Amino acid sequence: MANTEDLFKKVIAHAKEYGFVFQSSEIYDGLSAVYDYAQNGSELKKNIRDYWWKSMVQMHENIVGIDSAIFMHPTVWKASGHVDAFNDPMIDNKDSKKRYRADVLIEDYISKLESKIEKEVTKAAKRFGDSFDKAQFLETNPRVIANRDKIEKIKSVLYPAMDNDDMAAIKSLIENAGIVCPISGSKNWTEVRQFNLMFSTQMGSTAEGANEIFLRPETAQGIFVNYLNVQKTGRMKIPFGIAQTGKAFRNEIVARQFIFRMREFEQMEMQFFVRPGEEMKWYDYWKEQRMNWHTSLGIPADKFRFHDHEKLAHYANAAADIEFKFPMGFKELEGIHSRTDFDLSAHEEHSGKKLRYHDPEINESYVPYVVETSIGLDRMFLAILSNSYTEEQIEEGNTRVVMKLPPVLAPYKAAIFPLTKKDGLPEKGREIMEKLKMDYMCFYEEKDAIGKRYRRHDAIGTPYCVTVDHQTLEDNTVTIRERDSMKQERISIDEISGVISQRLKG
Ligand code: ATP
Repeated sequence: MANTEDLFKKVIAHAKEYGFVFQSSEIYDGLSAVYDYAQNGSELKKNIRDYWWKSMVQMHENIVGIDSAIFMHPTVWKASGHVDAFNDPMIDNKDSKKRYRADVLIEDYISKLESKIEKEVTKAAKRFGDSFDKAQFLETNPRVIANRDKIEKIKSVLYPAMDNDDMAAIKSLIENAGIVCPISGSKNWTEVRQFNLMFSTQMGSTAEGANEIFLRPETAQGIFVNYLNVQKTGRMKIPFGIAQTGKAFRNEIVARQFIFRMREFEQMEMQFFVRPGEEMKWYDYWKEQRMNWHTSLGIPADKFRFHDHEKLAHYANAAADIEFKFPMGFKELEGIHSRTDFDLSAHEEHSGKKLRYHDPEINESYVPYVVETSIGLDRMFLAILSNSYTEEQIEEGNTRVVMKLPPVLAPYKAAIFPLTKKDGLPEKGREIMEKLKMDYMCFYEEKDAIGKRYRRHDAIGTPYCVTVDHQTLEDNTVTIRERDSMKQERISIDEISGVISQRLKG
């Protein structure tokens, strides 16, 4: 397989060529960090969303789903802290004119120091062989100690500076570390400024009556403001969860890396309401559950890892990311946060409405604590796409590109091909298509040689190709070709549906 940078480029090119993802407004040269899902991409995206919904809502009797509006009362964002604190520090390089997130420049510098330490360890392990004592080496090697001290020193300035909006301290860190712009190589930086990530617009028919409102930067707040309505009308008993999927908008300072970081994206979030004091138990539970969800799709477990947060957001008392090994390295795919009673208490305070729960088991009223699971649908899409993209040598000099998508997520479950366009084969093929399409997304195609049609469906990840030939007319059997093994089997038409459904369950 190609190196990782190549792989990423190939995945992006493939996504366009095979109708998964297009740049938004491409005929106008595109809109930065906005993408459209195409005919195959929108099916894949819908299937990922459905798979999430099924495992979170359908499989949990104590979780219900909602669909709240993107526009919300402006005070929601005041209460949640987004108006005052949903900022990123930004900095520009005057030579390249490129804009960066100042904290990310520093975090990247820390990562470089960390990999220097790792390299020292690997080198020493080689040199000392079996007698290597890693712990002792880390404690005593002067270069390791110097780099670790540097990291600690930077963190001890960065984290308080971020909390206290101390932009000058962040700028000094960049200067003192001698961080250069990756494009121009220069240290010619502007000052660091705070930048609020929320998009705003006006609501109201006249300019005088206009009211600034925000496009939601997360779906979570739509759940919190509906908490009491859902709890009462659904007669929900704690612990219980509310789930929703939907668009979120963030005016990201640096939005690169394809659909990994966009300005308009989709989240799949679940807020789990628990008794105060029990949140850590549920936090651990959801960490495990969510990791199991990812591996249930057949993606190797070593492509995932937890990253426990050292620096917690103002609303959290514990937080971890599930990171995925994207082509550009391990990056956040999902966040699991113990959000305490921060959000509900803030909404109580700002709305003047009680958002309490009377717990009949302990005969007490309280503001519930919340454990949140929040995953970006687009990031999951990118994870699935890059994990599935495979180039294979199939015979001497011949290669194929196959998207080894989990069958349950594949845009089409089967493609129906009459071998030729005559002798009644198309009619028979259509008959099969009519039978299957009620239950599965299927694709019917007569054009081109059969090998070409197989390749096209390998490239979009269709798990089965069903070929109708002359024997079909005699005994009602077809050949069914499995995408990954390319094995062909002869089965009766009546068995096709069973074969597909079995594979989807797997
Ligand atoms: P990051 O640190 O990458 O900016 P975040 O910690 O701000 O992400 P959260 O606020 O926890 O992200 O949002 C939950 C999930 O939403 C993330 O794990 C990610 O999958 C997704 N997400 C967040 N921002 C974006 C974006 N700009 N584009 C696509 N997905 C996003």
